[in-house]
Amino acid sequence: MTKFKTLDDLGDLTGTVVLVRVDFNLPMQGVSVTDDTRVRAAAPTILELADKGAKVLLLSHFGRPKGEKVSTMSVSMTLDSVQAVLGREVMFVPEIAGDVVRQSLAILQPGDIALLENTRFWKGEEANDPDLAKAIAANADIFVNDAFSAAHRAHASTEGLAHLLPAYAGRSMEAELKALEAALGNPERPVAAVIGGAKVSSKLDVLTHLVTQVDHLIIGGGMANTFLAARGINVGKSLSEHELAATCEGILDAAEKAGCIVHLPYDVVVAKEFAANPASLRICNVHEVATDEMILDIGPQATEALADVLKTCRTLVWNGPLGAFETAPFDAATVALAKSAAALTREGALVSVAGGGDTVAALAHAGVVGDFSYISTAGGAFLEWMEGKDLPGVVALQQA
Ligand code: ADP
Ligand code: MG
Repeated sequence: MTKFKTLDDLGDLTGTVVLVRVDFNLPMQGVSVTDDTRVRAAAPTILELADKGAKVLLLSHFGRPKGEKVSTMSVSMTLDSVQAVLGREVMFVPEIAGDVVRQSLAILQPGDIALLENTRFWKGEEANDPDLAKAIAANADIFVNDAFSAAHRAHASTEGLAHLLPAYAGRSMEAELKALEAALGNPERPVAAVIGGAKVSSKLDVLTHLVTQVDHLIIGGGMANTFLAARGINVGKSLSEHELAATCEGILDAAEKAGCIVHLPYDVVVAKEFAANPASLRICNVHEVATDEMILDIGPQATEALADVLKTCRTLVWNGPLGAFETAPFDAATVALAKSAAALTREGALVSVAGGGDTVAALAHAGVVGDFSYISTAGGAFLEWMEGKDLPGVVALQQA
């Protein structure tokens, strides 16, 4: 991976104005923040810069105000949460550029922190307008990007600023990029990828890219049904995209050419109705699914075989649950394989990296979050990285 500068490249910053792009697009219920994970992720970077004497200006998007000033989408809604996590007083500044920011900087002392307004209140943010980026940069000396989760978007505050100021990766960005590099950039082989979740159609680009990168492609979840159906297997009432049969064949062909072994389940957990512990629950071979049944998880034999595959691997990248894990007992395969991966990681035998909204929830449900090498909460940016795409916010840091 092309190198980028980090906070290690910065010395004393007394009086230096540092713009830090964070992702404070926090989940809210009314006016309260329901999850401050993203603030905790950015805290080490913010405090390190403040402790080096910088005047720290925090920049984030918040919701989708589409270039208008929408009062319910002011970043100030997160201020209490930010102050609580940082344990410092933070000044709120209702602008991102111009005189108001300049006047605030005159009040701020070295080591002080200010939170600027929602970048998406200005149309130039999402348009990556160089004039807006220049206006923001005019008040600062250095740019630090600590928002990997926003790096797949080429916006003024994620990409534009990195070309106008000396640009550095924050600690959380640095950790994410190192973990992703270890998983797919330059991994120890053999590499296994687990791809599950609901639909093939939402992860076509991921599958297409992965078959050229990994040694074992493990397909589970609803998308396994689509692959099974493409092979002529009756999947009954299962969630399945029958129109994608040719696409699945193409992916399997590409995998064979690339020497990637594809693992589809040979036993499955089925039921006639989708409910917790339904009376019709049974485990069967994939060739024995009845027309009125649906596949809701991969079976115990397949799960055990996959655990054996992981034992032969050095690296694992995981996106998507293997079954409908929100409903018992269709979480069994996901939980079992997650525990196998966690144990191998604890032993030092496996580097395990996972990401995706429902995947993070499933791994938390399995109780393995602390045992994986790295779990990305970046959502869209994580998936684009799994698709092999360049993330504009990261490329801009590498070019800086
Ligand atoms: P992520 O958010 O981690 O990328 P997805 O959104 O692609 O994951 O998929 C997660 C969803 O897939 C979960 O809600 C889960 O219930 C569903 N799912 C997994 N397997 C099945 C299945 N066999 N049938 C129906 N839904 C499934
Ligand atoms: Mg999802």
